[in-house]
Amino acid sequence: MTQRHILEFGGRALFAEAQRLIPRGFGVARRIYREACLEGRFQPDTMGLRPEAVEAWRAAFRFSLPRVVRSVAEPSAFDGDTIKTVLATEEGLEFEMVRVPMGGGKYTLCVSSQVGCRLACGFCETGRMGLLRNLSTAEIVGQLVLARGFLGWPIRNIVFMGMGEPLDNADNVIGALRVMNDPFGLSYGQQRLTICTVGHPDGLAKLATLGWKRLDVSISLNSATDEVRDRVMPMNRKVGIAALRDALERFPRRAKFVYGINYCLMPGINDRREDAEAVAAFCRSLRVMVNVIPYNPGTKPLARAPTEAEVAQFMAWLSSLHVPVTRRVTKGRSVMAGCGQLGNIELRRTRLPIREGDSC
Ligand code: SF4
Repeated sequence: MTQRHILEFGGRALFAEAQRLIPRGFGVARRIYREACLEGRFQPDTMGLRPEAVEAWRAAFRFSLPRVVRSVAEPSAFDGDTIKTVLATEEGLEFEMVRVPMGGGKYTLCVSSQVGCRLACGFCETGRMGLLRNLSTAEIVGQLVLARGFLGWPIRNIVFMGMGEPLDNADNVIGALRVMNDPFGLSYGQQRLTICTVGHPDGLAKLATLGWKRLDVSISLNSATDEVRDRVMPMNRKVGIAALRDALERFPRRAKFVYGINYCLMPGINDRREDAEAVAAFCRSLRVMVNVIPYNPGTKPLARAPTEAEVAQFMAWLSSLHVPVTRRVTKGRSVMAGCGQLGNIELRRTRLPIREGDSC
């Protein structure tokens, strides 16, 4: 019998599987599933079961969480610390999650979907690692279970904005969204979940098959001209701006759906008035909120960080072109937990072969 990880399942699927393997196991299955999702424990021997039933549970299902390697915090007396936690897979590959304060004692958890990333965006530390492997559904969900159950963080929202391009690992990410949303377990509403993507048309089409209308989607745009986007995001050479825009038009949306458009502002690269005009043209007829993110120079900077005046000027140009715009407050920059700063230099040196089944 193949042993399956409990966190790969939504509640109903697990109950059906348990029912098949262990007759009359439904009530216990609910308790076991809740404990695994909410407390990060799998202990069938504490459920008052007969030894054969405990054995059947252990034979059919396994449970593990990513291992915490270390955490670094950027303190804030105002709204809580930003914490970057380095985690490891069972074979020791490191990846990262970030706790970002939202105020009011609540936090957003920024989760990773891959170890590394193949897309090599020039402003991103993860992109310099290459892709080591996709994270499984259980490893993605495991970040949330660990954050809540073991670290005790009151996580309100989850954003797929950590290491990796989520739609390059669409099957496992969609599996993780289903588990996070499952009312028998973690029960995060669709509106609390955000996929942040470079705008992968095939991946967006796959995401649409979920049929979820309240899921949030944000696009890492960074330039609305092929000339600049080709330079800073090499994947744009395959999927240009026009194809991206078509994919966004086609994506099924609820009434009043608003795309988040993330724009990492890099002085001398994408901060001219013409760049703002291109963004305005790209956004025409889409409902958007453009989030301007001041560039975080990493280990191999493409540019310096923009000044406050440069950020304000770019935002003013967008506003004058009737584009809704806000500034993303950069948190965690001092501990390399800000946007585009996740990555592990050691893994870059010990790059592993990509396994069969990975996306590239
Ligand atoms: S920005 Fe996202 S897609 Fe681009 S290299 Fe970094 S992780 Fe990959």
